[in-house]
Amino acid sequence: MNIAELVRECEACPLAWRGAGVPGEFILEDVANVEVMVIGEAPGAVEQAEGRPFVGDSGALLRSLLADCGLESYYLTNTVKHRPNVKSGKQQPPDEVATKACAPWLRAEFQMVRPTKIILLGKVAAKWFTPGLTFSALGDGLSKNPSMMNIAGSEFIHGDYPDVKFLVLLHPAYFLHNRTAPWINRQVNDWKRSLRNFLGAAIPTYAIERVECPVHP
Ligand code: URA
Repeated sequence: MNIAELVRECEACPLAWRGAGVPGEFILEDVANVEVMVIGEAPGAVEQAEGRPFVGDSGALLRSLLADCGLESYYLTNTVKHRPNVKSGKQQPPDEVATKACAPWLRAEFQMVRPTKIILLGKVAAKWFTPGLTFSALGDGLSKNPSMMNIAGSEFIHGDYPDVKFLVLLHPAYFLHNRTAPWINRQVNDWKRSLRNFLGAAIPTYAIERVECPVHP
C-alpha cells in the first residue's frame, strides 16, 4: 500500500472516528519537479468529507495565493490527517495526542517528496518543526515565546533536515476570519512578498511609461 492508502486507514488516535484519514496530495502531478512541500494544520469539515486536503474555503484561498506567487507544482498536506474536535461550533487545533500519532505520516511524506523547501502554515505546523518553542496568542517577542505575528515571514533551517529551507506563514484561514479588518490587505501582501522571496520568484514590477497627473498636467 502507498502512503495515501495507509493514511486513509489510520486508526492511531481518538480522531479516527471521523472516518478515513485525509492524505496529502501532489498538485499538478509533475512529481519530478516538486521541490516544495506545503504543510497546514488539519482537515476541516469539507476536507474530511471529501478526503482531500485544502478543498474548502481556506484551501481555495491558499491555492490561489500560491499560484499568484508562481508556485504551481508542490505537495500539499496537513500536520494531522483527521478533522479535530469541534467546541462551541469552532474547530479546535489538534491536540498533542493526534499530532504525535500523525508524526510518522508527515515523516513518511517528507521521505517520499524529499523537498528542498517547506512552507509551514500557522502555529500547529510551525510548532511541529520547532518543538522547543512555545507560541502564545499575543507573544512577547522573545525567541522562547514568539507569536505567529512575530514569526510569520521568517525563514529558518533545521538540523534534522539538512538541505531544506523552511518558511513560516500565517494560515490562510486567518485571512478569512479577519477579512473585514482594515489591515488585512497589508498582511496578505506581506504573506505574498515573503513567499516570493522564499521561492526566488520575481516580485512584480511595473513599466510606467507615462504618468498623467490631473493636478500638474
Ligand atoms: N486548513 C488546514 O490546515 N488544512 C486543510 O486541509 C484545510 C483547512
